Amino acid sequence: MKKNLLSILAIFCVLTSIAQSNDDAPKLTEVWEPVAAIVKPGKTAQDAPSDAIVLFNGKDLSAWQNSDKKPAEWIVGDGAMTVKKGTGMITTKQAFGDCQLHIEWRTPAEVVGESQGRGNSGIFLMGRYELQVLDNYNNRTYSNGQAGSIYKQLIPLANACREPGEWQTYDVIFTAPRFSENGRLQSAARITVIHNGVLVQNNATIWGATEYIGIPQYKQHGLKEPISLQDHGNPVSYRNIWIREL
Ligand code: MG
Repeated sequence: MKKNLLSILAIFCVLTSIAQSNDDAPKLTEVWEPVAAIVKPGKTAQDAPSDAIVLFNGKDLSAWQNSDKKPAEWIVGDGAMTVKKGTGMITTKQAFGDCQLHIEWRTPAEVVGESQGRGNSGIFLMGRYELQVLDNYNNRTYSNGQAGSIYKQLIPLANACREPGEWQTYDVIFTAPRFSENGRLQSAARITVIHNGVLVQNNATIWGATEYIGIPQYKQHGLKEPISLQDHGNPVSYRNIWIREL
């Protein structure tokens, strides 16, 4: 009788431990550290989240300068800044590497020119990798030079242009290239671009610094470099520019 009781007790213990280990099994794959930082999102996806650096809030060009480090001369008005032809590209005072960038742009409502001559500007990440800004609404140009392209490198997956005169959005996720100490490229830059909610670059590999003529190449530069906006002679406007460092 005593032997039977002991056997029952042993079986009970085994069953309990199996039940317990089954209860614990899900916990074995739970990871609690580190804790993701709390970021308060903007009211809409266009609005800057709490940890974003606002590069243009519609009021002044205080975050920008000319390439010779003199005050930026583009025109500010109606909550936007507009290319002032001939004043040259403007550049952020602060440098950035890996980042999430939100930027809104508008090509002129009055259509002038064609192909690359219509509403041309551009966003030069790290001052060298151009995400093209162009009015490609009913405006054919070379595919690797249209809006959403990495200029003369990567054709966009879609043409998501709105009509000229309408505001458009780019949401960019950019991974800076890495170089070894001797200047050799360790890993190329990568870019994801969403144009007006449409994916146009999907973690695509950038070939090198943008070139108008010839083959792009990488040349060693810092982990962080300023962002530039292009003066291509067309009165393209920008607004609501913010960035999150990654
Ligand atoms: Mg351009």
